[in-house]
Amino acid sequence: MKKLSIIIPCYNEEETIRPFLEVTKVVENQMAEEVVFDYIFVNDGSKDATLEVLREVSREFENVHYLSFSRNFGKEAGLLAGLERADGDVVTVMDADLQDPPEMLIDMYGKIKEGYDVVGTKRVNRQGEPAIRSFFAKVFYKLMNSVSDTEIVDGVRDFRLMTRQVTDSILKLKEVNRFSKGIFSWVGYKVTYLPYENRERVAGQTSWSFWNLFRYSIDGFVNFSEAPLNLATWAGFASFVFSFLGILFIIIRKLTIGGSIAGWASLVTIILFIGGLQLLALGIIGKYLAKIFLETKKRPIYIIEEESE
Ligand code: UDP
Ligand code: MG
Repeated sequence: MKKLSIIIPCYNEEETIRPFLEVTKVVENQMAEEVVFDYIFVNDGSKDATLEVLREVSREFENVHYLSFSRNFGKEAGLLAGLERADGDVVTVMDADLQDPPEMLIDMYGKIKEGYDVVGTKRVNRQGEPAIRSFFAKVFYKLMNSVSDTEIVDGVRDFRLMTRQVTDSILKLKEVNRFSKGIFSWVGYKVTYLPYENRERVAGQTSWSFWNLFRYSIDGFVNFSEAPLNLATWAGFASFVFSFLGILFIIIRKLTIGGSIAGWASLVTIILFIGGLQLLALGIIGKYLAKIFLETKKRPIYIIEEESE
């Protein structure tokens, strides 16, 4: 009998955990001949009754376990904590809100048996999502894939089933700044994606504001691409070439027709332009420096306050 570990990061999910288990238990029964399920809920410092609900369900079902963080560490930390605990032959990560359809696990497991190492899921549409959000998501994936060597496919969810070997490989990446979409893709292996229609949450609300997502995408760039740094280098180089030409022009003009005080407007423009470029370049370098700073501190990625036996 194979063991399937299911990792569910939860932040303020008091209303969704029970419906989630109800639906997933149905799938568990359907697959009972082949696999045993093992649930690991990670309470990511929820401000509602999530922890109480988790204590209850872990008493009710012997294959339901939980970890509870001392504060909100973010979904990435929750995923990592779950992956480190999971001891299944196959491992999956799922959202608590039923946006990841549990019944897909059956087909996903079928693909694993066919010989795939990773079976991901991909939304074929973004129905029910604000148009502006979809637009920026598209732009992000376009840009990201044009500047990063790690392919990040549009619409791919964190919801995926992977073998023990893949899970162990993911755990070998010890970085503190974790961008799972990139990490999952970076480890490689034989991957296939199953498509599905987007679903809305069963209850509660998304904890990702537009601003959160924006910052998350900047993290994606900084963690999986050096392009912004190169941009600073190229902008610096270009402005150097232009100012060199400018200096030549000024010297030659002074020697031929003589200097003039006309042109202060262009001078101010140039100063502002160069100043802006320098600040931009400094900002980009600062962004990477901040990441290095955090990495070198080697702080724990999460702190567990309580867990089920
Ligand atoms: N989540 C988490 N910590 C956070 C934010 C979210 O563990 O700081 C969990 C959340 O409970 C859910 C999953 O991550 O199970 C995805 O979050 P959400 O549904 O809010 O994101 P969306 O589906 O809108 O992208
Ligand atoms: Mg969701």
